[in-house]
Amino acid sequence: MAKNAIITGGSRGIGKAMALKLGEKGYNVVINYRSNSSKALTEEVIDEIKSEFGVDALAVQADVSKFEDCEKLVKEAVEFFGEEKVDALVNNAGITNNSNFIDLQPDAYEAVINTNLVSMMHMSHLCLPYMVDNGDASITCTASVGGMTGVINQGDYCAAKTGVIGLVRALALEFAPRQVRVNAIAPGMIMTDMLRGVNQDELNALAATIPLGRIGDVSDIAGALDYILDATYLTGQTISPNGGFVLQ
Ligand code: NAP
Repeated sequence: MAKNAIITGGSRGIGKAMALKLGEKGYNVVINYRSNSSKALTEEVIDEIKSEFGVDALAVQADVSKFEDCEKLVKEAVEFFGEEKVDALVNNAGITNNSNFIDLQPDAYEAVINTNLVSMMHMSHLCLPYMVDNGDASITCTASVGGMTGVINQGDYCAAKTGVIGLVRALALEFAPRQVRVNAIAPGMIMTDMLRGVNQDELNALAATIPLGRIGDVSDIAGALDYILDATYLTGQTISPNGGFVLQ
């Protein structure tokens, strides 16, 4: 029987790599994005998944910080799958501010909390009825090393990502009896648009602070998802591919 997956924030970066991994593993994939400028990018991902892996894929625009957009996303996904069954939800969409906390305005920090944390509550709340009691199903949430440590000028982001890890633990306990596993991936520094504004000298300096001596690649995170999807005895855990960053 075909397996069905929904991934948020799959237009680019880590989410794109994870969307491709879902396709490679045989899931039909609904890929969410937010901005008009990412429509074409997401459609390229859809085409690649369909042609490379022979599964079905659909792009759905939705701002997952808004409950009504999440409702639309899940409704369209279930209609697309043609059955009321979701095997994998990957809550990945995220944004960051980079500001000292005095200057950071309430609308900016609320946007970070709503996009990085509340969206994962909305999507889990809406998808779980299609996930419980189907055998193995999984929710995987993208957290961050910022949720395991503190980061200067990232108070809102660290709060959201620590919240993600707490949400994962609680949902894992609540839904284990109904065979839904819930885990987090907490990436270290990964080369995506989030780091594109940083110049080469700063990137080299950042890489030098990482024990393994390099900024991570999106494939490092897609590899963690690959493991989690098949790890049928793993729940409530945070896996952190971070090059040793949090050991120091
Ligand atoms: P990215 O390249 O900036 O991509 C972000 C993705 O999230 C895009 O697909 C974007 O859609 C989507 N998105 C943002 N806000 C959204 C919203 N309200 N509704 C729906 N989609 C939304 O970022 P990334 O580096 O791949 O990050 C992906 C995840 O990894 C995030 O949760 C981030 O916090 C986490 N992370 C990243 C790093 C890193 O070093 N890169 C480290 C730790 C954790 P559009 O294209 O439409 O804008």
